[in-house]
Amino acid sequence: MISLGIEGTAHTTGIGIIDSKGEVLADVRSIYKPAAGIHPREAAQFISDHIREAVDGALDESNLNILDIDLISFSQGPGMGPCLRTVATASRALSLYYKIPIMGVNHCVAHIEIGKLMSGFSDPLILYVSGGNTQILKLKDSRYRIFGETLDIGIGNMLDKFGRSVGLKHPAGPKIEELAKKGKEYIELPYVVKGTDLSFSGVLTAAIQKFKSDFNLEDVCFSLQETSFSMLVEVTERALAHLKMKEVLLTGGVGNNKRLQDMLKLMAKEHGAKFQVPINYCSDNGVMIAWLGILMYNSKVRQELKDTVINQRFRTDDVEVVWVK
Ligand code: AMP
Ligand code: MG
Repeated sequence: MISLGIEGTAHTTGIGIIDSKGEVLADVRSIYKPAAGIHPREAAQFISDHIREAVDGALDESNLNILDIDLISFSQGPGMGPCLRTVATASRALSLYYKIPIMGVNHCVAHIEIGKLMSGFSDPLILYVSGGNTQILKLKDSRYRIFGETLDIGIGNMLDKFGRSVGLKHPAGPKIEELAKKGKEYIELPYVVKGTDLSFSGVLTAAIQKFKSDFNLEDVCFSLQETSFSMLVEVTERALAHLKMKEVLLTGGVGNNKRLQDMLKLMAKEHGAKFQVPINYCSDNGVMIAWLGILMYNSKVRQELKDTVINQRFRTDDVEVVWVK
């Protein structure tokens, strides 16, 4: 079967096409780059302006006709309400007009499943780090159980907010990574791990204050990464040791960060565990949405239009993982 996935929870209008064997047939992404932070209404307008050409682009790339598509999958949540509504409306229209089954999927679970597909891991410990989400997860009794998570903002959000305060363009994560490479001096910042949960708002405020009190931006970026990434690695390491797992999977947009990858790789090695990151699929994309749709459909999940209502606060552990036996 062939699934077309539509991603649109925030900044990316992503259309992916994938088949049941996991072969990627198309991957088209249009990315909204706001001057400052992401404005939900403007982000939704961006999706609505780009979705048509992205669908056409993906069909072209795969040499397929819309009637070759067996399933329309879309990101049902979590995400920004106006973005989710735009994507859900477009997906319902395609589904109804062309009489193709529809499947709303959880965006976070899609990040995990594409990571598993690309890494070949069967039962990994997952560190999922993106703009709005930061979670350490493991599959148990048909749910991705949250071992630890942020108590306030997601780590990507923290990096982007810091960047905005010091004059970096959105998204700031990659720019902070570059600046951090030139940092030399570590500046003490709040390190907040509470049990297996994390908090990033204090480190954000402190880093902004350090910059304003004339510390060098490269040093602040370096210290911000070292501090917040160490927090992530600490909780992941605790989960790894406690759950005695052998695979560590990093996913989500912040997973693009080489320094974070290196820290996790080293930690995993010390525990005799394998480490993987789905390099081209960490950031939001339509392929992961299409793939989760296939997994669900092949496990006999079916949705009617009434089941396609969006869910801004769709939690990872709300989803019953029926496709893993
Ligand atoms: P996602 O929504 O999963 O695509 O993730 C977006 C988030 O990833 C944004 O907050 C970005 O700043 C962040 N991000 C992307 N690339 C990097 C990077 N190289 N280092 C740190 N954060 C990054
Ligand atoms: Mg994401």
